[in-house]
Amino acid sequence: MVHSPAVPFPIPVVPNVRDRYQVVVIGGGIVGCSVAYHLTLRGITDVALIERTELTAGSSWHAAGGFHAINSDMRIAALQKYTIGLYAQIERESGRSVGMHMSGGIELAGTAERWRLLKSELAWHHMMGTDAYLMTPGEASEMVPIIDPAGLEGALFDPHEGNLDPNGATHAYADAARKRGAEVVLHNRVISLTPLPGGEWRIETERGEITAEHIVNAGGLWARKVGRMAGIDHPLTPMLHHYLVTEDVPQVAAIEGDMAAVTDLEGFTYLQREGNGVLLGVYERNPRHWKIEGADWDFGMELFPEEIDRILPELSIGFERFPVLQEVGIKRWVNGAFTFTPDGNPLVGPVAGLAGYWAACGVMAGFSQCAAVGLAVANWIVDGDPGDDVFGMDVARFGPYARDDRYLSETTGQFYARRFLIAYPDEQLPAGRPLKTTPCYDDFRAEGAVFGVNWGLEVPLVFATGRPGFEEIPTLGRSNAFPIVAEEVEAVRTAAGAFEIAQYARYEVSGGGAHAWLDRLLSSRLPEVGRLRLAPMLNEAGRLMGDLSVTRLDEHRFWLTGSYYLQDWHMRWFRRHLPRAGVDLRNITDGWMGFSVSGPASREILERLADVDVSNEAFPFLTVRSMDVGTSRAVVGRLSLTGELGYEIVVPAGRHGTLLHELREAGEHSGLRLIGDYAVDCLRLEKAYGIWNAEFTQAYTPGMSGLDRFVAFDKEGFIGRDAALRERDGGAARRLVLLEVDATDAEAAGDDGIWLDGRLVGFVTSGAYGHHVGKSLALAYVDREQIEATPGLTVYVVGEQRTARLLPEPPYDPKGDRLRDVVPGHMR
Ligand SMILES: Cc1cc2nc3c(=O)[nH]c(=O)nc-3n(C[C@H](O)[C@H](O)[C@H](O)COP(=O)(O)OP(=O)(O)OC[C@H]3O[C@@H](n4cnc5c(N)ncnc54)[C@H](O)[C@@H]3O)c2cc1C
Repeated sequence: MVHSPAVPFPIPVVPNVRDRYQVVVIGGGIVGCSVAYHLTLRGITDVALIERTELTAGSSWHAAGGFHAINSDMRIAALQKYTIGLYAQIERESGRSVGMHMSGGIELAGTAERWRLLKSELAWHHMMGTDAYLMTPGEASEMVPIIDPAGLEGALFDPHEGNLDPNGATHAYADAARKRGAEVVLHNRVISLTPLPGGEWRIETERGEITAEHIVNAGGLWARKVGRMAGIDHPLTPMLHHYLVTEDVPQVAAIEGDMAAVTDLEGFTYLQREGNGVLLGVYERNPRHWKIEGADWDFGMELFPEEIDRILPELSIGFERFPVLQEVGIKRWVNGAFTFTPDGNPLVGPVAGLAGYWAACGVMAGFSQCAAVGLAVANWIVDGDPGDDVFGMDVARFGPYARDDRYLSETTGQFYARRFLIAYPDEQLPAGRPLKTTPCYDDFRAEGAVFGVNWGLEVPLVFATGRPGFEEIPTLGRSNAFPIVAEEVEAVRTAAGAFEIAQYARYEVSGGGAHAWLDRLLSSRLPEVGRLRLAPMLNEAGRLMGDLSVTRLDEHRFWLTGSYYLQDWHMRWFRRHLPRAGVDLRNITDGWMGFSVSGPASREILERLADVDVSNEAFPFLTVRSMDVGTSRAVVGRLSLTGELGYEIVVPAGRHGTLLHELREAGEHSGLRLIGDYAVDCLRLEKAYGIWNAEFTQAYTPGMSGLDRFVAFDKEGFIGRDAALRERDGGAARRLVLLEVDATDAEAAGDDGIWLDGRLVGFVTSGAYGHHVGKSLALAYVDREQIEATPGLTVYVVGEQRTARLLPEPPYDPKGDRLRDVVPGHMR
């Protein structure tokens, strides 16, 4: 191993570590220092940052220090913008330079498709209020004269990119935190973590025991080990990464001031100025993991010998794109380790069942994201809420399935190797799959299913029935699955479709205190026995925490149904509010599954299997019955997400496969067809139904999302009521609307901006082609004042400006007659 030079700016070791703090932050990298700073900013000054050796001693000291705001998640992007903007304040408060070079950055497009994506990214930058602009290849190489523009289609310049001194930035954060009251304790490894009966943590360190209300795991390369001390196995792992620094380059030396950073997306390299030379970093397609469980405790500030053969394919492309590199010497190689998660975003927040433990780890882009993580954690500790929708970096977005070493290694390897590749919206990546399947998986495969993945579970997206060998080809526009989805949609609208609902999460709440607890937890009124209801769940600030449906099975037994991938997220919230006694809460998700069967023929299919009367009179809309369906005892709810007459039939998991066979047999002469997620997305948009993580998230409120119609404002004492009442009286700032978009080859997608006369007036949350109504549709949030402004709206769809119109009502069955089955003469 190669050892580093001495670290500048030594911070004095605090002589006496106290034995009690309100918060102990474990780890003095850029992230831990930012968490400590943000805690002091939010008024918590009884904070100790405890570092094993020296500040920066994990990944932070050898980072290239580059930063940028762009991220595929808009909310994380906004937080990255916050991170970049905060460095000036950190410099001021600490009195230390962070070595900031706001050089701007150029992204190069080497293919026509990438060029299209950069145009779409430009629209995104304008939405974020960034003055980015497109350039010709010639303009790019004029700005950075060492670029060879051959083969380029164009480039995008973003003025809010740059680089800084990672050491300086980490120490500046630590100093700013100290000036606000935090203590920084060096050379003191945390050895063990023990939860105490009173809810505090005992922290055993090399220099004695400490008790704290909160512990924050900012352990970087060691974070998985630190998590295990507390009983949680975080899905993160170190991987190796190279950059080289050249001797002086005359063309660079000739540039006065900063030189724009360059990312060659097709070339897998990034480049930035380093003195009068350059730094070239490589994201190779053959990555290497290192110490999957975390670095050894005695790992110092060490680098690894360069592995040029392994990165040669990408390096060669870099040397062609920047030919001067073939002529200048290489001054230094850096091959260091930093952590990755399966999707490359951080792991932040509390963990269900570990009160007072906070994750602030898995941060791959520490210098773009440190303040984002620090702010979210500090807000969460102080307010019980991160302050915004941060699900994209929430530790709860991965379940226990992601802890498996093999899964972790495959998915993180996949992320690293694809870091600069185009991520198609409909692309299904293979790593770690299939991990979890339902009993119908093989039947679905035989039916030509194309699968996606939801929290580790294989879910059918579309059934290419009768098209042997069909594969969906990833694209930025409409894929070759488009006509098949049209067939599935038509089957539902004219006959019947069966959609697997294994991907609904289900929680059973029972006991003498169940009613009272749910009454407080949910903003809607609770249903009578044998009925179900949509039940928005709010936080104290009146923001959405769930779009659950609640089913009352008997006086003291309820089922809550929600999104599959939110299981840890919801359980964390439930447990936070659970009383000590009187309520039994169980996550029964994997124990029950089934099908949503909907369409005008759905009743006749159910009639063939059910042992009870399922007519409209006996089994009306929004009721629930326990009945035999075929050979299984099932719980059947009368509702659908497609807008048709429909039933959700759930059975114990072991009967799921049997149910499929019986349904198919019963539906054979009624036109029943299996349908996947794509068709459901289309069907719900034709009805303007929202779903979680698109229309409904923690960023929105009942008034914005239209879920206020399910809120029982006159019900006393539910969480978030005061805020919900304030919003009801004052009006929501924006509203969810349905748009028809004049799109031709691609639909609008989440976060596409909506413009009116050059002003941003909203953004799309989801889009799909409405095959039955023949319209490209999008659900979107639009500013309240603009709701009436029908003419003149435009939306950027994959970079192309399209006109759009507000639809005053859903284009399909706006009154819900088919859903309720109240059309005279309609098939019963
Ligand atoms: C070659 C390379 C180039 C990079 N370039 C960039 C770049 O340009 N831009 C960018 O944003 N990111 C870059 N990164 C990534 C960046 O380095 C990381 O995102 C960042 O450093 C993570 O910071 P951290 O605070 O989470 O972790 P770390 O820096 O690893 O800090 C964790 C700290 O916790 C301490 N610790 C761990 N366990 C304990 C314990 N039990 N008790 C006490 N202390 C403990 C460690 O000693 C360590 O100091 C690069 C990484 C590499 C390897």
